[in-house]
Amino acid sequence: MLQITMELEILGSGTSHGVPVVGCTCPVCTSQNPKDNRMRTSALIRLDDGKACIIDVGPEFRIQALRAGITTLEAAFITHSHADHLHGLDDLRIFTRKHPLPIWAERSCLRDIKSRFSYAFHKTPKGGGKPHFRLCPVSVREKRIPVCDPAIITVAGANFQPVPVFHGSLMIFGWRIGDTAYITDCNRIPNYSFRLLAGVKNLVIGGLRLREHSTHFSFPQAVAAIDRIGVENAWFTHICHDFSHEQIQSWLRENAPGKKIEPAYDGLRITIQGTT
Ligand SMILES: [Zn+2]
Ligand SMILES: [Zn+2]
Ligand SMILES: [Zn+2]
Repeated sequence: MLQITMELEILGSGTSHGVPVVGCTCPVCTSQNPKDNRMRTSALIRLDDGKACIIDVGPEFRIQALRAGITTLEAAFITHSHADHLHGLDDLRIFTRKHPLPIWAERSCLRDIKSRFSYAFHKTPKGGGKPHFRLCPVSVREKRIPVCDPAIITVAGANFQPVPVFHGSLMIFGWRIGDTAYITDCNRIPNYSFRLLAGVKNLVIGGLRLREHSTHFSFPQAVAAIDRIGVENAWFTHICHDFSHEQIQSWLRENAPGKKIEPAYDGLRITIQGTT
């Protein structure tokens, strides 16, 4: 086993509307602090040899890719098929010219991709500017405890592990890479997935807002999950416009004192340690 250093870059840290919300004149949506500009939630994983993978491909993918300087992609990992996580998929076609790009997701999510981007799977004459995807299913087998198959996906030497979590009644995936886990839309982590998260040091986790929501963790619920996993460093993502970056920081100082929890922001980079 070889130790490898990778990096997670937050491409977007905002909820489904993004922040600023179109038409909203609230103090957060009109803030001059760049950290209050939150594009739709997505993350880039830079592997240690110039290669990269992406988790979710939101509607702002093109802008995010230009800002992050993405020049190559080995695979995309999708958490679930809601529009804010998926609808930039067509813009991946620039990375599918030589080989089809593997898209790893739960089976029902792949079905959604096939219906929403049906043109990409129809036989058409050469050219035509379509993306070429290789849909790679992850099954969740319901035994005594659910088991993901495959349990680990290796891309360019890096191991990606699906972690089932609940987003309302929908079971979606978080992804673990080495000592780092990325769990966006979620309001419940089942016991078996807490076991998959044992030993995680860095956690990016959905923290929508202070008030409770039926399908997302509130700030206090996200802090409780962070405590239970026992990570060293954590960041909220998928944040709405109720609180500015600074207001979340001061809420955390008061309500989670001494803990290394911060609001994520677009462009944040987190070092990942993993093994091949
Ligand atoms: Zn979302
Ligand atoms: Zn607003
Ligand atoms: Zn969602």
